[in-house]
Amino acid sequence: MRPGWLAAPLLGAVLAGGTMHAQEPDFETTRIADGVYRFRYRAHNAFFVVTSEGIVAFDPISPTAADRYAAEIERVAPGSRLRAIVYSHRHADHASGAAVLRRALGVDVPIIAHANAREPIRAAGDTNLPPPDVTFEERLTLHFGDRAIELHYLGKSHSDDMLVALLPEDRIAFAVDFASHDGIGYRDLGSFHFPDQFTALERLLALEFDVIVFGHGPVGDRHSVERQIGYYSDLREAVQSAVERGWSEDEAAERVRLPTYETWGGYDSWFPLNVRGMYRWLVRDRAR
Ligand SMILES: [Zn+2]
Repeated sequence: MRPGWLAAPLLGAVLAGGTMHAQEPDFETTRIADGVYRFRYRAHNAFFVVTSEGIVAFDPISPTAADRYAAEIERVAPGSRLRAIVYSHRHADHASGAAVLRRALGVDVPIIAHANAREPIRAAGDTNLPPPDVTFEERLTLHFGDRAIELHYLGKSHSDDMLVALLPEDRIAFAVDFASHDGIGYRDLGSFHFPDQFTALERLLALEFDVIVFGHGPVGDRHSVERQIGYYSDLREAVQSAVERGWSEDEAAERVRLPTYETWGGYDSWFPLNVRGMYRWLVRDRAR
């Protein structure tokens, strides 16, 4: 730890970035709590925890991002060992780049992921996305020095292998893609599992956190997750009534609107696609 490190930055304070231009820098590291950091690279957020026995780093993001990520870890906690890399889920835009982290911070560092991630990653054979060495089904708690880091599987949501990290002492969580702070779902929700998504959000809210770091966008709190539940419920209700009126998918995408959420991230570009994704689930589900 460098002198002054503990005292200076508060939640949300930017510690470092690329070259200072008027626009947002490509990357930044934000201190969330003592030894708990969010690393942002462009639109993606990673999360890392500094313990007295080394670092646990979630989501390398990409080989290019991981290069910066490794340098930021080294800057924040010089000389610390990387003890584990954890994939929130297997999607390449969050999980690629582990080899770069390993090369920079420790070649033998184990990769941890949910059990459902292993076979698809192996089958894909992407050298930028090496398969996990350690997997779990329901819950795994990592103990490094003074910290416990819980990994929870909440069921299917945005993918079938999504884990959530919880630091029980700090009451901080890290959740990716199935929830965000006032952002709608990605495009046509193609990878989402319904109705499991609703259950996963309820289970997320049942975890004991106060602050939650998301894989995209700003840091949130419990209310952020409550609003996510509200959004997906309102989306389901609105699309359900479109289906009951006999609207086609195209008509629903054209006409369904949820003005309450129009200031949310992604609404302008993806909301009609969210409608399509929900429509497909509801129609498929009805046909069963
Ligand atoms: Zn994803």
